[in-house]
Amino acid sequence: MGRNLFNLKELSITEIEAILDQATVFLNAKNHKKFAGKIACNLFFEPSTRTQYGFQVAEMNLDIKAIGFNPEASSLKKEESFYDTIKTFDAFGADLLVIRHPSNGYYEQLAGKIETPIINAGDGTGDHPTQSLLDLLTIRQEFGSFNGLSVVMVGDIAHSRVVHTNFEAMKRLGMQVYTSGPEECRQNELNFIPLTQALSRCDVVIMLRIQHERHGKRLCMATDEYNSKYGLNHENVSLMKPNAIIMHPAPINRNVEIIDELVECGRSRIFKQVKNGVFIRMAAVKYALEAD
Ligand code: ASP
Repeated sequence: MGRNLFNLKELSITEIEAILDQATVFLNAKNHKKFAGKIACNLFFEPSTRTQYGFQVAEMNLDIKAIGFNPEASSLKKEESFYDTIKTFDAFGADLLVIRHPSNGYYEQLAGKIETPIINAGDGTGDHPTQSLLDLLTIRQEFGSFNGLSVVMVGDIAHSRVVHTNFEAMKRLGMQVYTSGPEECRQNELNFIPLTQALSRCDVVIMLRIQHERHGKRLCMATDEYNSKYGLNHENVSLMKPNAIIMHPAPINRNVEIIDELVECGRSRIFKQVKNGVFIRMAAVKYALEAD
């Protein structure tokens, strides 16, 4: 039968930790259960590199056959609706649908109408559950647990689905969660503090890209002005605690939210996040296919 994974709010802490544990098993195991004969459809209605191809690698690691989807070459161009497009892949008899779409909560119109289990690979500014899970795995690998850790997410808070999923899940896991960045992107209810204060206080610093595609108008500011006010640079990185780490969901705009030299510095876990993403997505696929 399988089950959906729309957001992390629906999961208990025990279920979240179980997915992280399963990802760790996949990370360490040479032989593990495969899902040969299953078919997954990766339906991305928005651009994506890490999530889209990370899911494809995860599915291949599990011996699942993966189908990609190009909206530009589909019947969406003949004005077929999103709903009918998804209903079509459901009717094909696929075993799993991985969907990214620019509308917040797109999955609400599908719930109960689509038999194939769905993993949400990002909905507008809403949620990005597998990104949040891979962030959590990266943090747990570093610090062993979550309780008592402090984290700040810096940048385009209002438009970031990564922030919205992480904020809720990290608080529930016992972390002190802050946000920081340009006033235009502030969300008061998300514990907004000045960047210098956040950097000296936090164990985890998550930098974010400005989501230009979700702004009515672009946040008009020169790159170096943005970096000196809201980005990580040689000066303010020295404020970070000795063992604090830098993360970023990527894509990175080098020299905007983080200067080039810091992207791969000793504190950075950015490419470790990408690696963890494959194992988290394997665990998410297993979660969706094997409802218990
Ligand atoms: N890749 C992340 C997302 O899909 C972050 C970003 O695009 O900036 O939300």
